[in-house]
Amino acid sequence: MREPGADVLIVGGGMVGASLALALAGSPIRLAMVEAVVPRAAEQPSYDDRSTALAPTSRRVFQALGCWDAIAAGAAAITHIHVSDQGQFGIARLDARSEGLDALGHVVPNRVLGQALHSRLAGQPVLRQYCPARVVALEDVGDRVRVTIEGEQGAEMVEARLVVAADGTRSPVREQLGLGVRETDYGQVGIIANVTPDQDHLGRAFERFTREGPLALLPLPGGHLSLVWTVHQSRARQLMALDDAGFLQRLQQAFGYRLGRLLRVGERACYPLHLVRSDARRSGRVVMVGNAAHTLHPVAGQGFNLALRDVAELAEHLHRAVVAGQDPGDARLLDSYLRARTPDYRRVVGFTDGLVRLFSNRLPGLTLGRNLGLSMLGVMPELRRALMYQAMGRGVPLPRLARGLPLTADEDVVHG
Ligand SMILES: Cc1cc2nc3c(=O)[nH]c(=O)nc-3n(C[C@H](O)[C@H](O)[C@H](O)COP(=O)(O)OP(=O)(O)OC[C@H]3O[C@@H](n4cnc5c(N)ncnc54)[C@H](O)[C@@H]3O)c2cc1C
Repeated sequence: MREPGADVLIVGGGMVGASLALALAGSPIRLAMVEAVVPRAAEQPSYDDRSTALAPTSRRVFQALGCWDAIAAGAAAITHIHVSDQGQFGIARLDARSEGLDALGHVVPNRVLGQALHSRLAGQPVLRQYCPARVVALEDVGDRVRVTIEGEQGAEMVEARLVVAADGTRSPVREQLGLGVRETDYGQVGIIANVTPDQDHLGRAFERFTREGPLALLPLPGGHLSLVWTVHQSRARQLMALDDAGFLQRLQQAFGYRLGRLLRVGERACYPLHLVRSDARRSGRVVMVGNAAHTLHPVAGQGFNLALRDVAELAEHLHRAVVAGQDPGDARLLDSYLRARTPDYRRVVGFTDGLVRLFSNRLPGLTLGRNLGLSMLGVMPELRRALMYQAMGRGVPLPRLARGLPLTADEDVVHG
């Protein structure tokens, strides 16, 4: 057994686990992280072909962690958001300048994000990384958790005061603990691909609610677009079976000609879309974050942004505790973290789930209501601002990192 073990052991070095590791790296916490798949591998499930829309709160977290420049170098700014309902009159436009911002968000390919996080982590001497390695068993031994890690050299045991499960939607840690989930299957699949249009996107992001579900085209560097097309499972099979020309034709029909002709499409991949919530976000000395705690429908691009605010709050709680000589796995500490995050969690889950249901429904009354809603967004600044606050992760008290501040108040520097 490795002695003296770790204060905090993070299971999963995907987008959320690696962000937490980085947030804690400047702290006196003895930190370990276990990741099953090396970050640059083609089969890495977190840093795959998807792109992520980062809200301004996420940008501030990454600025505070010193990796924003590396992310921004491979990201595109969203300067406008254009929301429409196929075949209906309602259209809403949100724009950064009229909100006094330089960008409403940034879109970054997941691989770029992974590279930025892991190259920054590589320079952190306090972090012990096990990769490729899997956590295969956990045992509560009173004031610690004994964790069995299986790597290339065989099995190894590590004891930690706190285990953070950041091991994804089907979290093996959560299963080990015997925790159940509440799952809503929307019966939908997200088809993702990069698409090249004939016209420059000029930083515009498009969210179009089609008969089958929402279709998002987000700006990427180099004039490309990141597509997330939500369709029913049977329709997804048909669309995936088409050749590129056939697929582009269907996409063009659904999206229209706002960016001229859609010229090329890259490799397509499918993701099942559901809402999965862990029955508990803490069990003893284990706390769940990211997809292990809550997996959301990507319709509003909220899953990672919400998780990053959780990470910021958790890091702040843990840092404060360890500096004060307290146990980072203490139940009161972890419950205080969860209480602080509950309003944001409920708000984002409710907003995302409501949006999926509202825009998946073709009842005439609802269609009219939502078109009025979309049109009203254009003329009512308060309504528009409320939506912007939701999409940008504001409107709730934010942890220090999400305000661009370091973990401690010692040297407060607000980053632009
Ligand atoms: C199509 C799509 C588009 C999206 N777009 C957006 C967006 O625009 N904005 C946004 O905010 N969110 C978006 N999301 C959500 C976002 O992708 C998730 O919030 C994010 O991937 C969660 O990351 P995670 O690290 O929690 O989990 P994962 O990405 O699943 O990573 C889990 C990690 O744990 C590792 N692991 C698993 N088991 C073990 C084990 N036993 N031992 C060690 N390691 C293990 C895995 O190898 C993996 O690296 C989107 C999601 C989808 C499906």
